[in-house]
Amino acid sequence: MDHQHVVGTLPAFVALDSSPVLAGQRRGTSIQLDDTYFTGQLRAFEAFDADSEERSTPGFAERPQDLRESLQRYRQIEIDIDSLTEADLWTASTRFRRELRRIPEIDFLKRQFPGRCFVVPEWLQSGDRLHYGARVYFFGSEESTTPEDVIRENIDGILHDSSQQFERYQGRLHGYPDCCIEFYHERSATAPSPEWRSIEPFADRIADESLGDGIAVSLDEVLPRFSDWEGRYAFFAREFFPEPGCDTARTHGQAIYDELSSAEPVQLIEDHFGLTFGYNYLVARAVHTGGSYRPTPGDLGQEHLMFYLPLRELVTMPRYS
Ligand SMILES: [Zn+2]
Repeated sequence: MDHQHVVGTLPAFVALDSSPVLAGQRRGTSIQLDDTYFTGQLRAFEAFDADSEERSTPGFAERPQDLRESLQRYRQIEIDIDSLTEADLWTASTRFRRELRRIPEIDFLKRQFPGRCFVVPEWLQSGDRLHYGARVYFFGSEESTTPEDVIRENIDGILHDSSQQFERYQGRLHGYPDCCIEFYHERSATAPSPEWRSIEPFADRIADESLGDGIAVSLDEVLPRFSDWEGRYAFFAREFFPEPGCDTARTHGQAIYDELSSAEPVQLIEDHFGLTFGYNYLVARAVHTGGSYRPTPGDLGQEHLMFYLPLRELVTMPRYS
């Protein structure tokens, strides 16, 4: 048991996702840096922070203002790329990364997280369109990898027209079991997607009718009796889709659960796993019906939005204290 592995100043979903990295249980993890990251936190402060003057966390009161500044700077970034050549992709990546590093929130994350934390641009090609975004990585140590390595793998994937190659690399960076990385790439036009096959054994336990009510409902209503679900710990990371019945994923997830719940309230860690599962369900359901979807904070009930509060504020909420 080591309480230092949980970083209380980070948004709770980031703190709990990166804690196993500090504990040496996962090689690394990452979050997408986008509008949702910033607006989710701002909405959480607004929704659950009516009595902010009574909050004791140092620096807590300044967070909304800092987040607004960061969001503004993030939105001002403009990316141009002349052609999909190696040289132009590198030039654009270097410029983009320079802009990203000027966002105050990146400094905040780097200061708060005791391992290695960095931001990189992320390129994604679909059809003949190039999409871009930004991702913040968290690793336990300096040796794990470098921003340049991640960018190089990403650019290689684009140049070789292979998103699979980069996704496999990312899977290894995130500490996913090799067997489940393989499973994720077993795609065919005739079979359901791996995302859906991963979730499907649990699909009839989800209360779909409660989804869509946002923070008017609790996660308990969306995932009834989640803490009784056998095999739920295999879903130990957002956007990780374990092969159904995979013992490796399950054992690994169980160890992460044990470590987290030795330092934090059990209800909090159950909710962390429930939200991870629910997030993956929403993604899988969208893929299954031929779309893509990035869940909005609060889609899975009020705990979903609450987990955008700093962890040490979240644990003072009545549900967890
Ligand atoms: Zn597996």
